[in-house]
Amino acid sequence: MSISTPVGSADRPLRVAVIGSGPAGVYAADILTKSEAVKSGELTVSIDLFDRYPAPYGLIRYGVAPDHPRIKGIVNALHKVLDRGDIRFFGNVDYGTDISIEDLRKHYDAIIFATGAIKDADLNIPGIELEGSFGGADFVSWFDGHPDVPREWPLEAKEIAVLGNGNVALDVARVLSKHADDLLVTEIPDNVYAGLKSSPVTDVHVFGRRGPAQVKFTPLELRELSHSKDVDIILYAEDFEFDEESDRQVQTNNQIKTMVGTLTNWIAEQPEDLSELKASRRLHLHFLHSPVEIVDSAETPGKVAGIKFERTELDGTGNARGTGEFIDYPVQAVYRAIGYFGSALPDVEFDHKKGVVTNDGGRVLDADGQHVPGLYATGWIKRGPVGLIGHTKGDALETVTYLLEDRENLPVAEVPAADAVVELLDSRGVKFTSWEGWLALDAHELALGAAATEAGTSHGVEVKRERIKVVPREDMVNISRDGVAAQV
Ligand code: NAP
Repeated sequence: MSISTPVGSADRPLRVAVIGSGPAGVYAADILTKSEAVKSGELTVSIDLFDRYPAPYGLIRYGVAPDHPRIKGIVNALHKVLDRGDIRFFGNVDYGTDISIEDLRKHYDAIIFATGAIKDADLNIPGIELEGSFGGADFVSWFDGHPDVPREWPLEAKEIAVLGNGNVALDVARVLSKHADDLLVTEIPDNVYAGLKSSPVTDVHVFGRRGPAQVKFTPLELRELSHSKDVDIILYAEDFEFDEESDRQVQTNNQIKTMVGTLTNWIAEQPEDLSELKASRRLHLHFLHSPVEIVDSAETPGKVAGIKFERTELDGTGNARGTGEFIDYPVQAVYRAIGYFGSALPDVEFDHKKGVVTNDGGRVLDADGQHVPGLYATGWIKRGPVGLIGHTKGDALETVTYLLEDRENLPVAEVPAADAVVELLDSRGVKFTSWEGWLALDAHELALGAAATEAGTSHGVEVKRERIKVVPREDMVNISRDGVAAQV
């Protein structure tokens, strides 16, 4: 191919690699293919979507709780985009290991990083390293059947603390407190069911460091807590502090108003004598507690035996300050769900404070703050782990708009032929998966669900399952590539 053929013409499409096939990556690819320039015929694009996992959908597959089937709508939308056939999918390809920035630069005119954030934000308090102290995001990865986390999860605690008042804290607390049998209608893998089934948990305590009007979770997710069978919700009157700023938040923010309404109704309906509550498990919601220390066990040093908080009070600005009063809770496990954090990517400047690729509106910057031509970012790795999945669309639009604005000045790929990257991966022995491969794995997982439904019972419980996830990476790859699982 002659370089004199204009990039973006029918003979020489603009070659774009997107790294990450979660919502951020798929939205960016979709928006690019539907851009005015492409629709009008002025520009031709050829997009390859890479993912380190053998299956697509990123956070949707490995970050959304299994008892949230509402999210299916988003999966269907992403499926439709990738099923059109104009965007190629390469799964099981790790950026930085299987394919480097030099390789990508050689084969593509532009690269969009959409790698998201899957790690837990750090919490620097004494005792965080104790056995029984966990990251909420790690637990989510486990119950979502992530291929790269251990199959076993130590569920030995009767009393558990969950730190944070965001939706992840609610997901973690709900899954920890729910009876495992009630999750048999979901796609949880067998090892997750077995782990949860063996859990001796009786009390899960969720702690927010501010008040009920400053929570970060959302109304549906809060209300959903009350739908768990045989789990009582318990609230504490002393945590119900509202200052003028809280009143303002309640009046101006409908979500806050709804959630404060839900919480105040729950506490009003709660019996004064808590021993009247008869469920075998309890979910406690505490506010105005700031974590200070995870307490080491005296009997078995190195293990979590409790957690210490400083009580806080609202300071009139929407924030909370310490009161100097401390309180201890006996717990045997602590899950911090205080936010996700992005991971640095090889050969790309990273802002370690914010946990994002250094960028300006999606244009990736170098150490001197200059745009690195041809490099872009979108989604959580661009703006940090905040906002619902839908918010990622606006982000992708901004990034793609910049890419299109820059298109006359992009570095031109040396080997733009679409087959060249396939040859490169093959030559390195990378067992990449394709969209057709995902369709095979998808069908396999649905068949496992159908078989369980047909059997009528699973573990002695009547079930109706749409899908059962395949967990081991090797099995995912083998089913995708050859329709064969080592042991499923
Ligand atoms: P988040 O919404 O930012 O919540 C983090 C929580 O951790 C906040 O309550 C925060 O308190 C608290 N926190 C932070 N640092 C703390 C510290 N040092 N000590 C005590 N508490 C601390 O984060 P997330 O829950 O990880 O959720 C990330 C995004 O994914 C959100 O947009 C969320 O809505 C979304 N998501 C949605 C769903 C769903 O729709 N079902 C499910 C999961 C996640 P402050 O507010 O005081 O900082």
